[in-house]
Amino acid sequence: MSDTTTRDTVILGSGCSGLTAAIYTARANLKPLVLEGHEPGGQLSITTLVENFPGWPEGVQGPQLIENMKQQATRFGAELRMAHLTGVDLTKAPYVLHVGKDVIHTRTLIIASGASARWLGLPSEQALIGHGVSSCATCDGFFASGKEIAVIGGGDSAMEEAIFLTRFATKVTLINRTERFRASKIMLERAMAHPQIEFLTNTTVEEVLGVEEKDVKGLRLKNQATGAESILPVSFMFLGIGHSPNATAFRGILDLDDDGYIKTTNNVFTTHNGQILPGVFACGDIQDRRYRQAITAAGSGCMAALEVEKYLEQFGH
Ligand code: NDP
Repeated sequence: MSDTTTRDTVILGSGCSGLTAAIYTARANLKPLVLEGHEPGGQLSITTLVENFPGWPEGVQGPQLIENMKQQATRFGAELRMAHLTGVDLTKAPYVLHVGKDVIHTRTLIIASGASARWLGLPSEQALIGHGVSSCATCDGFFASGKEIAVIGGGDSAMEEAIFLTRFATKVTLINRTERFRASKIMLERAMAHPQIEFLTNTTVEEVLGVEEKDVKGLRLKNQATGAESILPVSFMFLGIGHSPNATAFRGILDLDDDGYIKTTNNVFTTHNGQILPGVFACGDIQDRRYRQAITAAGSGCMAALEVEKYLEQFGH
């Protein structure tokens, strides 16, 4: 159903940054509408223990942290809707958002649509998603119980997934395409010291075997130093190779960088052809490729909310 009134603010995304923006704008009595997006709860909802969010000395489960934030936002009047943006017109205020057949008018917009897991892009990988290929260890780890599996990547995500998956899998082979790891020293050392984790470096996945059987049977690998190919007999492949920003709806509408992240100035202000777009702010991983932490996403969500409040003062709020 389309809204007939013009809203003060709409927030795209329900991860850490979007929900923090929702808490702040709701407490400012702006009755924010949160469109939860394709991946409600964002990346925290598919992670396990978060040990570095201040205030949780023993750590907190990512989904629990998100659930708490949702409750906090709705307690102050935020409206959460399971929907995602299908079109947008930011040429003049109030701005127009399309959500399927619905049309929403809003004076301000907070874009907190985050980033999504990356895939290798192999046809065999795509054919086997949900049949032994996964980008979410937390979601699908259980299905790897008692199996030998592979984790792809060399960053903190890959290390975290590999360590987590040892709870289920009998053996985890971590495959990194170079000799160099992006992971932090502590995570890399933890994974390397784990007796169930084996490392293969300088190695790429050329094909996921098992397309006909609709079940992963192994990986065809290539050693990048020697060119030698080999077969690794695993029954599951988990991707941990980073994320891509969810900003395609804003291509040509807002300034994006070469990798598709929304460019911001003064922390959270968006631009079009280098000029600030009034009332449109971006926060969290959609505009941050450097820090990408829950706490920094929350921080920028707060900044966007405060800028919304300031911007709306001109309308007598
Ligand atoms: P990163 O960008 O840090 O690492 C991505 C990894 O995947 C790199 O090793 C990269 O290799 C590899 N990769 C990328 N594309 C491909 C490809 N097509 N084929 C094979 N390998 C590929 O992403 P992460 O998700 O690991 O981390 C993102 C951020 O989140 C970091 O800041 C990290 O610290 C943080 N994080 C923190 C955690 C924690 O503290 N508990 C847990 C998870 C993430 P190459 O180096 O060759 O490009």
